[in-house]
Parts: sequence; C-alpha cells; structure tokens
Amino acid sequence: MSAHQLTVLWDIDGTLLDVRGAGRRAFVAAVAQVWGGARDLRDVSFAGATDLGVLAQVLEPALLDDARTARFFEQLGLSLAEELAATPARACFAARETTAALAARGVAQGLLTGNEERCARLKLRSAGFDEAWFTFGAYGHEHGDRDQLARLAARRRPGRHVVVGDTPRDVQAARAIDAIAIAVCTGFAERRALVDACPDHLLDDLSGLLALL
Ligand SMILES: [Mg+2]
Repeated sequence: MSAHQLTVLWDIDGTLLDVRGAGRRAFVAAVAQVWGGARDLRDVSFAGATDLGVLAQVLEPALLDDARTARFFEQLGLSLAEELAATPARACFAARETTAALAARGVAQGLLTGNEERCARLKLRSAGFDEAWFTFGAYGHEHGDRDQLARLAARRRPGRHVVVGDTPRDVQAARAIDAIAIAVCTGFAERRALVDACPDHLLDDLSGLLALL
C-alpha cells in the first residue's frame, strides 16, 4: 500500500479513546432535558451505533422533529463537556502516537464516527489528540446508519480508504465503501465477534498499525 494515496477513517470510541461512560451519561442527561421523563436506556447498546441511530431506537418518530433534535445535540455537547471536565477521556494504547505519525507523514485522516461533530471534537481534545490531524469527517448527527456515514466520508474524500474500528459495525461500514477493514481489540466488542466479522486485519491495539500501512 502506498500511504500517500490512502485516507484513514477513524472510529472514535473504543478505537482512539475511552470516555469511561461519559458519553452514555451525557446522552441520557440530554434525552431527559429535551424529552423529559425517565427513559430506561440501560439496555441500549452504543457500541458501533450512531447518535441519531440511538435516538431512533429510544424515541418514537413523531418526537424526533428537527427542533428537538437540534436542542438535543446542543444539550449533549454541554453535558459531555461537563462530564469530561470531571473525568477526562483516555487515549487508547498507541492511538495518539499513531495518528500523530500518520499526520506527520502526510496521510489523510478523517473521522467516521457515531458521535455528533462537536462531541467528537470534545472527546478527542479531552484525550490529548490534536484535532488538526483529522481534516474531515462523517458524524453521528448526519445519519442514523453507519454504512451511510461511510459513504458520506468516501464522497467527501474519494480514493482508497482504510477504516479502523473496534466493532463488527465498523467492519461492515468498511465493506460499504470497499475499504480495507482494520479491527482493534481495544474497545467494546469481544475478539470472537471481531474475528467473525472478517476484517482484513485484526490488531490487539494500534501499535501495529503503522507497520501495516
Ligand atoms: Mg467504536
């Protein structure tokens, strides 16, 4: 592979960093702020999901109008900032070094994430990443379906793509755009589930990524 023609598309949670539950806590708080009531989100899985996708799982379509959805994302950013001020995100092993090295080599890097854009940036800053390393992205407020986000990212920067993620859904999103799928075991999926998803490469952590590219 020639690194110069590649664009690396990064999942965030479980791949680049761990917010230690802050994302879920902020999400629950923002839903309560905007829609009221006590909704039980305990059984909702956020792994590999998108913010819009999770909203669609827990709220009836009639409640998901544009105005309330916009208020939700505003509130989510505020709640998340509070959470991260109290408990900063932790970078996954070798994640900062790897993304910094790729940026230094001029490899294009984007975000392919279920997070809304502002929340994505908050998490990255909290874990000590330089936002400038990621020049574009497709985000969780733009579509509820991760495969569609992958297509969006590929349209925004055409060429050859590598998708790096921690769940079978990331592997599936890579397939949606004929990208090379790299799965890492630093996140939310069991190794067995990742093996079953048949990524092109399965890594224990990101320390092996540079050599691979
Ligand atoms: Mg993830």
